[in-house]
Amino acid sequence: MTDLSAAASSAYRQALDVIASVEPRIAEATRKELADQRSSLKLIASENYASPAVLLTMGTWFSDKYAEGTIGHRFYAGCQNVDTVEALAAEHARELFGAPYAYAQPHSGIDANLVAFWSILAHRVEGPWLEKFSVKSVNDLSEADWESLRAELGNQRLLGMSLDAGGHLTHGFRPNISGKMFHQQQYGTDPETGLLDYDAVRAKAREFKPLVIVAGYSAYPRRVNFAKMREIADEVGATLMVDMAHFAGLVAGKVFTGDEDPVPFAHVTTTTTHKSLRGPRGGMVLATEEFAPSVDRGCPMVLGGPLSHVMAAKAVALAEARQPEFRTYAQHIADNAKSLADGFLSRGARLVTGGTDNHLVLLDVSSFGLTGRQAEAALLDAGVVTNRNSIPSDPNGAWYTSGIRFGTPALTTRGFGHDEFDRVAELVVDVLRNTQPGTTKAGGPSKASYVLADGVAERTHAASQEMLDANPLYPGLEL
Ligand SMILES: *Cc1c(COP(=O)(O)O)cnc(C)c1O
Repeated sequence: MTDLSAAASSAYRQALDVIASVEPRIAEATRKELADQRSSLKLIASENYASPAVLLTMGTWFSDKYAEGTIGHRFYAGCQNVDTVEALAAEHARELFGAPYAYAQPHSGIDANLVAFWSILAHRVEGPWLEKFSVKSVNDLSEADWESLRAELGNQRLLGMSLDAGGHLTHGFRPNISGKMFHQQQYGTDPETGLLDYDAVRAKAREFKPLVIVAGYSAYPRRVNFAKMREIADEVGATLMVDMAHFAGLVAGKVFTGDEDPVPFAHVTTTTTHKSLRGPRGGMVLATEEFAPSVDRGCPMVLGGPLSHVMAAKAVALAEARQPEFRTYAQHIADNAKSLADGFLSRGARLVTGGTDNHLVLLDVSSFGLTGRQAEAALLDAGVVTNRNSIPSDPNGAWYTSGIRFGTPALTTRGFGHDEFDRVAELVVDVLRNTQPGTTKAGGPSKASYVLADGVAERTHAASQEMLDANPLYPGLEL
């Protein structure tokens, strides 16, 4: 049997020598990035550590190939190997998620959502449009046709989860294109419990009659009942789109099953591949047979040439996610989030929704007298990498915020378990209790500056280092 970590070590050492021969500073930054990732307590809920197999797959000559089009039907010659790669990525995705159709080309989560929006519009509106413009395909529309089409698109309605309740920019947030190409309205969460209120979503949907309902989130610490969301969509004749960018790993690992698995209920499901799914940086769209042909036109509607090297890495990551070990990993992600949440609660901290049942925890730092910005910076000083996040009806707005979002996928990959996550909660609470808000030049309370008490950063670093050393990132990989 080959020693995989020795093989990866030698592959990376030699690759870095090759890179250094052209631009040594890039080789150096690459080494340093590994060292930094190894030595920090990464709690960013959207990040993970892909395997060396996934990472190595991205560094090949597939990057050099143009392959606009679809499998077996490309606008460029010589795409037979790209066809193999894309077909395998799609096959693994279909099998893993039980989806009738998978599209592996989107370069990112946002691209996947744009593909989904356009395909839903094309599918839902194409009949009437095309009759009106007397063309066979949207590709045949003239400039003037597009002009009036834009007017029509402006009349399409989208209902998504609001940003401060945990939704994503692309779910109809006004400054995002999704909030411009659609008339948008947003649903939030119950002000008392912080939980999704399906009756309120239903009432809003009945009144607004959206073409698309988007479910999914980036910062909501609870599971969603997608059967109910589909029921609501059906009731008002909407298409249900689920963006599982954050929790695709929990779907893949069968932690979210039944009504919590979006794939059987959504007409179109989008995802990233690099968050809890632990693949390369990229996106993907799953769809029913009905929506497949319009999703397949992601290129040329939205995308240019696919990143074939990344599609190859998606295939490798999806193959990994089909192994039984991935189910164990996914279960540990959820168990660890619970341990982290319990660790906070037992130390008197306040959590949005009072806990978690997915991979993330949203801590309300206002009880520490801090803004999210102050808490994020103080934690970073102590080597704890998180991000600030709005909480529902956030008094500090989207820039300063009142929340800190924590996620368990990355440290779970390193092997952290219950005891480590309880200790993480202890360290975080210690840092926040020892952080005071600073003052502005005028002498008032600042939302940005802060003072971390002496010695706290050092003791936190030391305690984290112990846990990080005991749970090494890429064990055996030596550069
Ligand atoms: C992260 C995220 C995205 C965007 O993914 P990118 O790859 O950064 O474009 C889209 N939707 C949701 C819900 C996300 O959490």
